[in-house]
Amino acid sequence: MIVAFCMALLTVAALLVWVSAASENRGLIERANTRIFVCTETGRSFPHRWQEGEEEPIESPFTGRPTAWLAEQCYWTRDGRAKRTPTYVVVKERLGLKEKTFCPDCGREVVSHNPMPPEELFRSAE
Ligand SMILES: [Zn+2]
Repeated sequence: MIVAFCMALLTVAALLVWVSAASENRGLIERANTRIFVCTETGRSFPHRWQEGEEEPIESPFTGRPTAWLAEQCYWTRDGRAKRTPTYVVVKERLGLKEKTFCPDCGREVVSHNPMPPEELFRSAE
C-alpha cells in the first residue's frame, strides 16, 4: 500500500518536472523567435514574433501597412565604447538598395548579422 502511494507520488513529481520543463522550453523558443523590426516610415521599432514563411516587409503597427523590416542591432557608442541597449538599424541592403548603412547613433557601418563589440568593452558598458 505504501509502495503504491510512493509510486503515485513519484509519478506526479516526475510529471510536474516534465510539464514545467516543457513550458520553460516553449518560453525560450518564443523569445528566440521574437525579433526587433523597424518601421521605415516612422523610424520606430517594435518586437515581433517571427512566423514561419513570413516575408518582409511586415505590417507595421504604426502605419498599418507593410513598412517594417528586420533590424540589426548596433551596440557601439559614438566614442567607441559598448552600450547595453542597442540602436536598431535596418540595413539598406535588405531594402534592395546597394548602399552602405550607417548607424544614426554612432556613425559606424552596420551590416547583416552585425557583429557585437568585443566582450571586454561590455564590462565597462553603460
Ligand atoms: Zn551604432
